[in-house]
Amino acid sequence: MNKILIIPKYIVTADKNGAILKNHIVEISDDKISNIKPLEEKEVKEFEGEVVHAENLTLIPGFVQTHIHLCQTLFRGLADDLELLDWLQQRIFPYENAHDAGSLRLSAKLGLNELIKSGTTTIMDMGTLRHQEIIFEELDKSGIRAFAGKCMMDENELFTPFKSSTKDELRYTYDLAKEFHQDNGRIKYGFAPRFVLSCSEELLIGAKEMMGEFGGSLYHTHSSENRSECAVVRKKHNKDNIEYFDSLNLLNDRTVLAHWIHVNDNEMKILKDKGSKVAHCPSSNLKLGSGVAQIPKYLQEGISVSLGADGAPCNNNLNIFNEMRLASLIQKPLHGPTAMNAETIFRMATIEGAKALNIGKETGSIETGKKADLVLLNLDTPFQSLSNGEDNIYSNIVYSASKDNIVSVMIDGKMVLNGGESPIYDDLELFDAGRTELKKLIKRSQN
Ligand SMILES: [Zn+2]
Repeated sequence: MNKILIIPKYIVTADKNGAILKNHIVEISDDKISNIKPLEEKEVKEFEGEVVHAENLTLIPGFVQTHIHLCQTLFRGLADDLELLDWLQQRIFPYENAHDAGSLRLSAKLGLNELIKSGTTTIMDMGTLRHQEIIFEELDKSGIRAFAGKCMMDENELFTPFKSSTKDELRYTYDLAKEFHQDNGRIKYGFAPRFVLSCSEELLIGAKEMMGEFGGSLYHTHSSENRSECAVVRKKHNKDNIEYFDSLNLLNDRTVLAHWIHVNDNEMKILKDKGSKVAHCPSSNLKLGSGVAQIPKYLQEGISVSLGADGAPCNNNLNIFNEMRLASLIQKPLHGPTAMNAETIFRMATIEGAKALNIGKETGSIETGKKADLVLLNLDTPFQSLSNGEDNIYSNIVYSASKDNIVSVMIDGKMVLNGGESPIYDDLELFDAGRTELKKLIKRSQN
Protein backbone atom coordinates (compact mmCIF):
# COMPACT_ATOMS: atom_id res chain seq x y z
CA MET A 1 0.00 0.00 0.00
CA ASN A 2 1.25 3.48 -0.94
CA LYS A 3 1.08 5.73 2.12
CA ILE A 4 1.56 9.49 2.21
CA LEU A 5 1.22 11.90 5.11
CA ILE A 6 0.73 15.61 4.45
CA ILE A 7 1.44 18.22 7.12
CA PRO A 8 -0.07 21.51 5.92
CA LYS A 9 -0.54 24.83 7.66
CA TYR A 10 -4.29 24.80 7.09
CA ILE A 11 -6.75 22.31 5.64
CA VAL A 12 -9.69 23.94 3.89
CA THR A 13 -11.98 20.94 3.89
CA ALA A 14 -15.09 22.15 1.98
CA ASP A 15 -16.98 19.63 4.13
CA LYS A 16 -20.61 20.31 5.02
CA ASN A 17 -19.62 22.62 7.90
CA GLY A 18 -16.93 24.38 5.87
CA ALA A 19 -14.34 23.40 8.48
CA ILE A 20 -10.86 24.89 8.26
CA LEU A 21 -8.39 22.84 10.28
CA LYS A 22 -5.10 23.95 11.79
CA ASN A 23 -2.42 21.66 13.25
CA HIS A 24 -3.93 18.66 11.51
CA ILE A 25 -2.47 16.07 9.17
CA VAL A 26 -3.97 14.18 6.25
CA GLU A 27 -3.04 10.54 5.70
CA ILE A 28 -3.41 9.01 2.28
CA SER A 29 -3.49 5.31 1.57
CA ASP A 30 -3.28 4.51 -2.15
CA ASP A 31 -5.95 6.63 -3.84
CA LYS A 32 -7.93 7.65 -0.74
CA ILE A 33 -7.79 9.96 2.26
CA SER A 34 -7.55 7.44 5.07
CA ASN A 35 -7.30 9.77 8.07
CA ILE A 36 -7.48 13.41 9.10
CA LYS A 37 -6.30 13.99 12.63
CA PRO A 38 -4.50 16.38 15.00
CA LEU A 39 -0.76 16.65 14.41
CA GLU A 40 1.35 14.52 16.79
CA GLU A 41 5.13 14.74 16.32
CA LYS A 42 5.62 11.16 17.49
CA GLU A 43 3.24 9.79 14.87
CA VAL A 44 4.95 11.75 12.13
CA LYS A 45 8.34 10.31 13.14
CA GLU A 46 6.99 6.77 13.17
CA PHE A 47 4.97 7.09 9.96
CA GLU A 48 5.85 4.38 7.47
CA GLY A 49 5.50 6.12 4.15
CA GLU A 50 6.27 9.41 2.46
CA VAL A 51 5.92 12.54 4.62
CA VAL A 52 5.10 15.76 2.75
CA HIS A 53 6.22 18.73 4.83
CA ALA A 54 3.90 21.53 3.78
CA GLU A 55 3.89 23.52 7.00
CA ASN A 56 3.72 26.82 5.10
CA LEU A 57 1.11 25.66 2.61
CA THR A 58 -2.67 25.42 2.56
CA LEU A 59 -4.29 22.15 1.56
CA ILE A 60 -7.53 22.43 -0.41
CA PRO A 61 -9.65 20.00 -2.41
CA GLY A 62 -8.74 19.86 -6.10
CA PHE A 63 -10.90 22.10 -8.25
CA VAL A 64 -13.70 20.70 -10.39
CA GLN A 65 -14.59 22.24 -13.76
CA THR A 66 -17.84 21.03 -15.25
CA HIS A 67 -17.50 22.46 -18.76
CA ILE A 68 -14.29 22.32 -20.83
CA HIS A 69 -13.36 21.87 -24.52
CA LEU A 70 -9.86 20.35 -24.62
CA CYS A 71 -10.04 20.13 -28.40
CA GLN A 72 -10.04 23.93 -28.67
CA THR A 73 -6.91 24.73 -26.65
CA LEU A 74 -4.83 24.89 -29.82
CA PHE A 75 -7.05 27.71 -31.14
CA ARG A 76 -6.43 30.11 -28.26
CA GLY A 77 -6.30 33.69 -29.48
CA LEU A 78 -7.58 32.80 -32.94
CA ALA A 79 -11.25 33.65 -32.39
CA ASP A 80 -11.34 36.84 -30.37
CA ASP A 81 -14.02 39.52 -30.32
CA LEU A 82 -16.83 37.59 -31.97
CA GLU A 83 -20.31 36.63 -30.78
CA LEU A 84 -21.25 32.97 -30.39
CA LEU A 85 -22.72 32.04 -33.78
CA ASP A 86 -20.04 33.97 -35.74
CA TRP A 87 -17.39 32.55 -33.43
CA LEU A 88 -18.59 29.03 -34.27
CA GLN A 89 -19.20 29.61 -37.98
CA GLN A 90 -16.06 31.58 -38.85
CA ARG A 91 -13.49 30.03 -36.58
CA ILE A 92 -14.31 27.17 -34.22
CA PHE A 93 -16.20 24.83 -36.55
CA PRO A 94 -13.64 25.22 -39.38
CA TYR A 95 -10.77 24.63 -36.93
CA GLU A 96 -12.37 21.66 -35.18
CA ASN A 97 -13.19 20.28 -38.62
CA ALA A 98 -9.50 20.54 -39.55
CA HIS A 99 -8.27 18.54 -36.55
CA ASP A 100 -6.38 15.35 -37.29
CA ALA A 101 -5.23 12.92 -34.62
CA GLY A 102 -1.94 14.77 -34.11
CA SER A 103 -3.38 18.25 -33.64
CA LEU A 104 -6.15 16.96 -31.40
CA ARG A 105 -3.63 15.16 -29.21
CA LEU A 106 -1.57 18.32 -28.81
CA SER A 107 -4.66 20.38 -28.08
CA ALA A 108 -5.75 17.96 -25.36
CA LYS A 109 -2.25 17.86 -23.84
CA LEU A 110 -2.00 21.67 -23.79
CA GLY A 111 -5.36 21.89 -22.06
CA LEU A 112 -4.62 19.19 -19.52
CA ASN A 113 -1.22 20.68 -18.72
CA GLU A 114 -2.84 24.05 -18.03
CA LEU A 115 -5.73 22.60 -16.02
CA ILE A 116 -3.53 20.47 -13.79
CA LYS A 117 -0.93 23.20 -13.25
CA SER A 118 -3.71 25.53 -12.13
CA GLY A 119 -5.15 23.04 -9.64
CA THR A 120 -8.06 21.43 -11.47
CA THR A 121 -8.34 17.73 -10.67
CA THR A 122 -11.72 16.87 -12.24
CA ILE A 123 -13.23 18.03 -15.51
CA MET A 124 -16.18 17.38 -17.73
CA ASP A 125 -15.02 17.76 -21.32
CA MET A 126 -17.08 18.19 -24.44
CA GLY A 127 -15.00 16.46 -27.06
CA THR A 128 -15.12 16.93 -30.78
CA LEU A 129 -16.67 15.29 -33.82
CA ARG A 130 -13.79 13.05 -34.86
CA HIS A 131 -10.83 11.22 -33.25
CA GLN A 132 -12.46 11.32 -29.78
CA GLU A 133 -10.46 8.26 -28.72
CA ILE A 134 -7.35 10.50 -28.72
CA ILE A 135 -8.92 12.67 -26.01
CA PHE A 136 -9.69 9.60 -23.90
CA GLU A 137 -6.10 8.40 -24.30
CA GLU A 138 -4.74 11.76 -23.16
CA LEU A 139 -7.18 11.98 -20.24
CA ASP A 140 -5.96 8.59 -19.14
CA LYS A 141 -2.27 9.53 -19.39
CA SER A 142 -2.73 12.88 -17.62
CA GLY A 143 -4.02 11.34 -14.40
CA ILE A 144 -6.98 13.73 -14.25
CA ARG A 145 -10.47 12.65 -13.16
CA ALA A 146 -12.85 13.21 -16.05
CA PHE A 147 -16.17 12.86 -17.71
CA ALA A 148 -15.77 13.07 -21.46
CA GLY A 149 -17.64 12.26 -24.60
CA LYS A 150 -17.58 12.74 -28.30
CA CYS A 151 -19.31 15.94 -29.34
CA MET A 152 -22.39 14.77 -31.27
CA MET A 153 -23.56 16.70 -34.33
CA ASP A 154 -25.85 15.49 -37.10
CA GLU A 155 -27.03 18.94 -38.21
CA ASN A 156 -25.00 22.06 -38.88
CA GLU A 157 -26.36 24.94 -40.90
CA LEU A 158 -23.51 27.20 -39.82
CA PHE A 159 -20.73 25.06 -41.30
CA THR A 160 -22.04 22.08 -43.24
CA PRO A 161 -18.84 19.97 -43.55
CA PHE A 162 -18.71 19.70 -39.76
CA LYS A 163 -21.32 17.08 -38.94
CA SER A 164 -22.01 13.41 -39.41
CA SER A 165 -25.07 11.21 -39.91
CA THR A 166 -27.41 10.41 -37.02
CA LYS A 167 -26.72 6.72 -37.36
CA ASP A 168 -22.94 7.13 -37.41
CA GLU A 169 -23.01 9.55 -34.48
CA LEU A 170 -25.00 7.15 -32.34
CA ARG A 171 -22.90 4.15 -33.30
CA TYR A 172 -19.54 5.91 -32.77
CA THR A 173 -20.74 7.28 -29.42
CA TYR A 174 -21.91 3.88 -28.25
CA ASP A 175 -18.60 2.27 -29.23
CA LEU A 176 -16.63 4.96 -27.38
CA ALA A 177 -18.73 4.61 -24.24
CA LYS A 178 -18.26 0.82 -24.38
CA GLU A 179 -14.51 1.24 -24.67
CA PHE A 180 -13.78 4.12 -22.30
CA HIS A 181 -16.51 4.40 -19.65
CA GLN A 182 -15.39 3.04 -16.29
CA ASP A 183 -18.23 2.35 -13.84
CA ASN A 184 -15.94 2.74 -10.85
CA GLY A 185 -12.93 4.34 -12.44
CA ARG A 186 -11.42 7.77 -12.95
CA ILE A 187 -12.87 8.26 -16.43
CA LYS A 188 -16.55 8.20 -17.15
CA TYR A 189 -18.60 8.91 -20.22
CA GLY A 190 -20.40 12.23 -20.60
CA PHE A 191 -22.79 11.97 -23.55
CA ALA A 192 -22.35 15.25 -25.39
CA PRO A 193 -24.84 16.36 -28.02
CA ARG A 194 -23.38 19.82 -28.76
CA PHE A 195 -26.51 22.00 -28.65
CA VAL A 196 -30.02 22.07 -30.06
CA LEU A 197 -28.88 23.68 -33.31
CA SER A 198 -26.52 20.84 -34.18
CA CYS A 199 -28.69 17.90 -33.16
CA SER A 200 -31.77 16.19 -34.53
CA GLU A 201 -34.42 14.98 -32.09
CA GLU A 202 -33.39 11.44 -32.86
CA LEU A 203 -29.80 12.20 -31.84
CA LEU A 204 -30.76 14.03 -28.63
CA ILE A 205 -33.05 11.18 -27.58
CA GLY A 206 -30.68 8.44 -28.77
CA ALA A 207 -27.88 9.83 -26.59
CA LYS A 208 -30.16 9.87 -23.55
CA GLU A 209 -31.34 6.32 -24.15
CA MET A 210 -27.77 5.02 -24.19
CA MET A 211 -27.09 6.29 -20.67
CA GLY A 212 -29.01 3.45 -19.05
CA GLU A 213 -26.26 1.03 -19.98
CA PHE A 214 -23.49 3.21 -18.51
CA GLY A 215 -23.94 3.70 -14.77
CA GLY A 216 -22.72 7.07 -13.52
CA SER A 217 -22.55 8.58 -17.01
CA LEU A 218 -23.88 12.09 -17.62
CA TYR A 219 -25.65 14.09 -20.32
CA HIS A 220 -23.68 17.23 -21.20
CA THR A 221 -24.85 19.95 -23.57
CA HIS A 222 -24.95 23.72 -24.17
CA SER A 223 -28.12 25.68 -23.61
CA SER A 224 -29.48 29.23 -23.69
CA GLU A 225 -26.10 30.85 -24.13
CA ASN A 226 -26.81 33.54 -26.70
CA ARG A 227 -29.90 35.53 -27.75
CA SER A 228 -29.51 34.67 -31.46
CA GLU A 229 -29.13 30.97 -30.60
CA CYS A 230 -32.29 31.12 -28.45
CA ALA A 231 -34.19 32.88 -31.26
CA VAL A 232 -33.24 30.21 -33.80
CA VAL A 233 -34.24 27.43 -31.37
CA ARG A 234 -37.59 29.12 -30.78
CA LYS A 235 -38.18 29.53 -34.50
CA LYS A 236 -37.23 25.94 -35.24
CA HIS A 237 -39.08 24.21 -32.41
CA ASN A 238 -41.59 26.78 -31.21
CA LYS A 239 -40.15 26.36 -27.71
CA ASP A 240 -37.26 27.70 -25.67
CA ASN A 241 -34.26 25.42 -25.08
CA ILE A 242 -35.29 23.92 -21.75
CA GLU A 243 -38.95 23.57 -22.71
CA TYR A 244 -37.77 21.75 -25.81
CA PHE A 245 -35.41 19.45 -23.87
CA ASP A 246 -38.19 18.76 -21.40
CA SER A 247 -40.64 17.91 -24.18
CA LEU A 248 -38.13 15.22 -25.27
CA ASN A 249 -37.76 14.01 -21.69
CA LEU A 250 -34.04 14.72 -21.62
CA LEU A 251 -33.75 16.42 -18.26
CA ASN A 252 -32.94 14.82 -14.94
CA ASP A 253 -30.21 14.97 -12.30
CA ARG A 254 -27.72 13.49 -14.76
CA THR A 255 -28.02 16.47 -17.12
CA VAL A 256 -25.42 19.26 -17.06
CA LEU A 257 -26.15 22.37 -19.11
CA ALA A 258 -23.40 24.81 -19.93
CA HIS A 259 -24.16 28.54 -19.73
CA TRP A 260 -27.93 28.81 -19.25
CA ILE A 261 -28.11 32.61 -19.44
CA HIS A 262 -31.27 33.54 -21.33
CA VAL A 263 -34.06 31.63 -19.61
CA ASN A 264 -37.71 32.22 -18.80
CA ASP A 265 -39.50 31.57 -15.48
CA ASN A 266 -41.07 28.36 -16.72
CA GLU A 267 -37.65 27.03 -17.72
CA MET A 268 -36.34 27.90 -14.28
CA LYS A 269 -39.16 25.86 -12.73
CA ILE A 270 -38.53 22.92 -15.06
CA LEU A 271 -34.81 22.86 -14.33
CA LYS A 272 -35.44 23.02 -10.60
CA ASP A 273 -38.06 20.25 -10.71
CA LYS A 274 -35.86 17.99 -12.81
CA GLY A 275 -32.71 18.58 -10.74
CA SER A 276 -30.56 19.37 -13.78
CA LYS A 277 -27.32 21.30 -13.24
CA VAL A 278 -25.90 24.55 -14.57
CA ALA A 279 -22.23 24.82 -15.56
CA HIS A 280 -21.52 28.53 -15.24
CA CYS A 281 -18.73 29.92 -17.46
CA PRO A 282 -18.37 33.60 -16.59
CA SER A 283 -15.26 34.43 -18.65
CA SER A 284 -16.70 32.88 -21.77
CA ASN A 285 -20.09 34.53 -21.23
CA LEU A 286 -18.43 37.94 -20.95
CA LYS A 287 -15.92 37.51 -23.76
CA LEU A 288 -18.49 36.32 -26.31
CA GLY A 289 -20.80 39.08 -25.09
CA SER A 290 -23.40 36.41 -24.31
CA GLY A 291 -24.69 37.92 -21.07
CA VAL A 292 -24.60 37.44 -17.31
CA ALA A 293 -26.39 34.37 -15.94
CA GLN A 294 -28.60 35.09 -12.94
CA ILE A 295 -26.62 32.81 -10.66
CA PRO A 296 -27.79 34.24 -7.30
CA LYS A 297 -31.38 33.58 -8.39
CA TYR A 298 -30.58 30.00 -9.45
CA LEU A 299 -28.89 29.36 -6.11
CA GLN A 300 -31.85 30.80 -4.27
CA GLU A 301 -34.10 28.41 -6.21
CA GLY A 302 -31.87 25.52 -5.17
CA ILE A 303 -30.49 24.90 -8.67
CA SER A 304 -27.01 23.37 -8.75
CA VAL A 305 -24.35 25.75 -10.12
CA SER A 306 -20.73 24.82 -10.75
CA LEU A 307 -17.94 26.44 -12.76
CA GLY A 308 -16.12 25.84 -16.03
CA ALA A 309 -13.62 27.74 -18.14
CA ASP A 310 -15.26 26.52 -21.38
CA GLY A 311 -12.63 26.58 -24.16
CA ALA A 312 -9.36 28.47 -24.61
CA PRO A 313 -10.60 30.50 -27.63
CA CYS A 314 -13.51 32.03 -25.68
CA ASN A 315 -11.79 32.71 -22.36
CA ASN A 316 -8.66 32.70 -23.11
CA ASN A 317 -7.49 30.73 -20.07
CA LEU A 318 -8.46 27.42 -18.56
CA ASN A 319 -7.48 28.29 -15.03
CA ILE A 320 -10.25 28.23 -12.43
CA PHE A 321 -8.96 31.25 -10.50
CA ASN A 322 -10.24 33.55 -13.25
CA GLU A 323 -13.65 31.85 -13.19
CA MET A 324 -13.94 32.05 -9.40
CA ARG A 325 -13.03 35.71 -9.27
CA LEU A 326 -15.34 36.67 -12.12
CA ALA A 327 -18.23 34.50 -10.92
CA SER A 328 -18.20 36.64 -7.81
CA LEU A 329 -17.44 40.08 -9.23
CA ILE A 330 -19.88 40.13 -12.17
CA GLN A 331 -22.85 39.64 -9.83
CA LYS A 332 -21.99 42.43 -7.41
CA PRO A 333 -23.08 45.40 -9.55
CA LEU A 334 -26.40 43.59 -10.14
CA HIS A 335 -27.08 42.03 -6.75
CA GLY A 336 -24.98 44.07 -4.33
CA PRO A 337 -21.54 43.46 -2.81
CA THR A 338 -22.68 40.73 -0.43
CA ALA A 339 -23.78 38.50 -3.34
CA MET A 340 -21.59 35.52 -4.18
CA ASN A 341 -19.13 35.74 -1.31
CA ALA A 342 -15.75 34.04 -1.54
CA GLU A 343 -16.74 30.91 0.40
CA THR A 344 -19.83 30.33 -1.79
CA ILE A 345 -17.60 30.60 -4.85
CA PHE A 346 -14.93 28.30 -3.42
CA ARG A 347 -17.57 25.64 -2.74
CA MET A 348 -18.91 26.03 -6.28
CA ALA A 349 -15.42 25.33 -7.61
CA THR A 350 -14.95 22.25 -5.39
CA ILE A 351 -17.70 20.29 -3.64
CA GLU A 352 -20.60 21.76 -5.63
CA GLY A 353 -18.76 20.88 -8.85
CA ALA A 354 -18.32 17.31 -7.66
CA LYS A 355 -21.99 17.11 -6.67
CA ALA A 356 -23.01 18.46 -10.09
CA LEU A 357 -21.23 15.49 -11.64
CA ASN A 358 -22.87 13.14 -9.10
CA ILE A 359 -19.47 12.29 -7.59
CA GLY A 360 -19.86 14.40 -4.45
CA LYS A 361 -19.41 11.30 -2.30
CA GLU A 362 -16.14 10.53 -4.04
CA THR A 363 -14.35 13.88 -4.36
CA GLY A 364 -14.73 17.67 -4.01
CA SER A 365 -13.87 17.95 -0.31
CA ILE A 366 -11.21 16.76 2.13
CA GLU A 367 -12.90 14.05 4.18
CA THR A 368 -11.88 10.58 5.30
CA GLY A 369 -12.81 7.96 2.73
CA LYS A 370 -12.81 10.34 -0.22
CA LYS A 371 -10.39 10.22 -3.12
CA ALA A 372 -7.10 12.02 -2.51
CA ASP A 373 -7.71 14.82 -5.05
CA LEU A 374 -5.77 17.60 -3.36
CA VAL A 375 -3.98 20.86 -4.02
CA LEU A 376 -1.26 22.55 -1.98
CA LEU A 377 -1.32 26.34 -2.27
CA ASN A 378 1.21 28.86 -1.10
CA LEU A 379 -0.81 31.72 0.32
CA ASP A 380 2.13 33.15 2.27
CA THR A 381 3.22 35.60 -0.40
CA PRO A 382 3.33 39.40 -0.56
CA PHE A 383 0.50 39.20 -3.11
CA GLN A 384 -2.02 37.80 -0.61
CA SER A 385 -3.64 39.22 2.48
CA LEU A 386 -0.96 39.51 5.14
CA SER A 387 -3.27 38.88 8.07
CA ASN A 388 -2.19 35.24 8.11
CA GLY A 389 -5.47 34.07 9.53
CA GLU A 390 -8.03 31.51 8.52
CA ASP A 391 -10.62 34.30 8.26
CA ASN A 392 -8.95 35.42 5.05
CA ILE A 393 -8.46 32.06 3.42
CA TYR A 394 -11.44 32.12 1.03
CA SER A 395 -10.76 35.75 0.15
CA ASN A 396 -7.14 34.92 -0.55
CA ILE A 397 -8.02 31.98 -2.78
CA VAL A 398 -10.94 33.53 -4.67
CA TYR A 399 -10.01 37.19 -4.96
CA SER A 400 -6.20 37.27 -4.86
CA ALA A 401 -4.72 33.93 -5.85
CA SER A 402 -3.78 32.70 -9.31
CA LYS A 403 -2.14 29.62 -10.72
CA ASP A 404 1.17 31.04 -9.46
CA ASN A 405 0.09 30.02 -5.94
CA ILE A 406 -0.18 26.33 -6.86
CA VAL A 407 2.65 24.21 -5.50
CA SER A 408 1.52 20.59 -5.78
CA VAL A 409 -1.47 18.72 -7.14
CA MET A 410 -2.50 15.18 -6.33
CA ILE A 411 -5.19 13.15 -8.07
CA ASP A 412 -6.23 9.68 -6.93
CA GLY A 413 -3.33 9.75 -4.46
CA LYS A 414 -0.73 10.40 -7.18
CA MET A 415 1.31 13.60 -7.48
CA VAL A 416 0.56 15.07 -10.91
CA LEU A 417 2.39 18.28 -9.99
CA ASN A 418 5.09 18.12 -7.36
CA GLY A 419 6.64 21.34 -6.10
CA GLY A 420 5.74 22.97 -9.42
CA GLU A 421 7.26 20.14 -11.46
CA SER A 422 5.09 18.01 -13.71
CA PRO A 423 6.15 14.38 -14.11
CA ILE A 424 4.10 14.29 -17.34
CA TYR A 425 4.28 17.57 -19.25
CA ASP A 426 7.12 19.77 -20.39
CA ASP A 427 5.98 23.33 -21.20
CA LEU A 428 8.69 23.95 -23.81
CA GLU A 429 8.06 20.70 -25.60
CA LEU A 430 4.32 21.39 -25.69
CA PHE A 431 4.93 24.91 -26.94
CA ASP A 432 7.12 23.77 -29.84
CA ALA A 433 4.96 20.80 -30.82
CA GLY A 434 1.79 22.91 -30.44
CA ARG A 435 3.11 25.58 -32.80
CA THR A 436 3.94 22.97 -35.42
CA GLU A 437 0.52 21.32 -35.14
CA LEU A 438 -1.28 24.66 -35.26
CA LYS A 439 0.52 25.71 -38.43
CA LYS A 440 -0.50 22.46 -40.14
CA LEU A 441 -4.07 22.73 -38.84
CA ILE A 442 -4.53 26.26 -40.17
CA LYS A 443 -3.28 25.11 -43.55
CA ARG A 444 -5.75 22.21 -43.56
CA SER A 445 -8.59 24.54 -42.53
CA GLN A 446 -7.90 26.71 -45.61
CA ASN A 447 -8.11 23.83 -48.08
ZN1 LIG B 1 -18.79 25.17 -24.40
